[in-house]
Amino acid sequence: MKRVAVVTGAGSGMGLAIARRLAGESHDVALFDLAGDAAERAAAELRTNGASAIAAAVDVSDRAAVDDALERVRAALGPIGIMVTSAGIDRFEAFTDITPESWERMLAVNLTGTFHSLQAVVPDMLAANWGRIVTISSSSAQSGAANMAHYVATKGGVIGLTKSLALELAPRGITVNTIAPGFIDTAMTRRAEERGDVPNLDAIIARTPVRRAGTGDDIAAACAFLCSEDAGYITGQSVNVNGGWYL
Ligand code: NAD
Repeated sequence: MKRVAVVTGAGSGMGLAIARRLAGESHDVALFDLAGDAAERAAAELRTNGASAIAAAVDVSDRAAVDDALERVRAALGPIGIMVTSAGIDRFEAFTDITPESWERMLAVNLTGTFHSLQAVVPDMLAANWGRIVTISSSSAQSGAANMAHYVATKGGVIGLTKSLALELAPRGITVNTIAPGFIDTAMTRRAEERGDVPNLDAIIARTPVRRAGTGDDIAAACAFLCSEDAGYITGQSVNVNGGWYL
């Protein structure tokens, strides 16, 4: 059945792949991103391929901006049935170098941004007694990651938020799951590789059991399933899409 789906961070990487996939499955899609031009380009591409798609320049850490953009989605497409939160930032800083400002911004985007995005759409789903929520956490929240204490703390928070909300909403036909990606080849990881913050791609592939980098499409495939009617008995789960890394 066709639904209205909102994807945050849809201007790039896995968010973009998820938006394309959900549009390909005939859902109407709203693409939110801080980079409004990238979101608009992506929405235009989806419309060219016959989908109903709109874009909004949104900083997910700004609740008023999230609420305002969702009102425009409701007016254009209808109540929201699917929410996927892929907007996120990373930073590599030794623990003693993390400033309170850097810590706060990481929390504001990755964790509070997820909270805003979910809290603002849950009333639509409660009214429909149906909903699918997928958050994007990280395998690093299972393993830990040096020089990423703030980032990993936010992703651990996303997992806790996801599991708690799943229990609260389960009786109402709404599922809430998180995907914990391993190493996925996106703009975020390419930038980290260029800065020397992570080993080069080949070294990471060599220690990945499936011997390739993950792609946005790998994440999108898992996400599309979690958003489907068929996935109604799956909630509160962390789905690890990581090429077989044991975490
Ligand atoms: P990406 O940089 O390609 O895409 C992230 C998008 O989020 C960008 O378009 C960016 O503009 C947007 N964004 C950043 N701050 C925002 C804000 N305040 N409001 C709205 N949009 C904002 O990165 P990606 O690899 O696709 O990452 C997607 C998600 O997956 C992130 O949450 C990231 O932490 C997580 N993740 C990535 C990997 C990986 O290996 N790439 C692994 C684990 C988890």
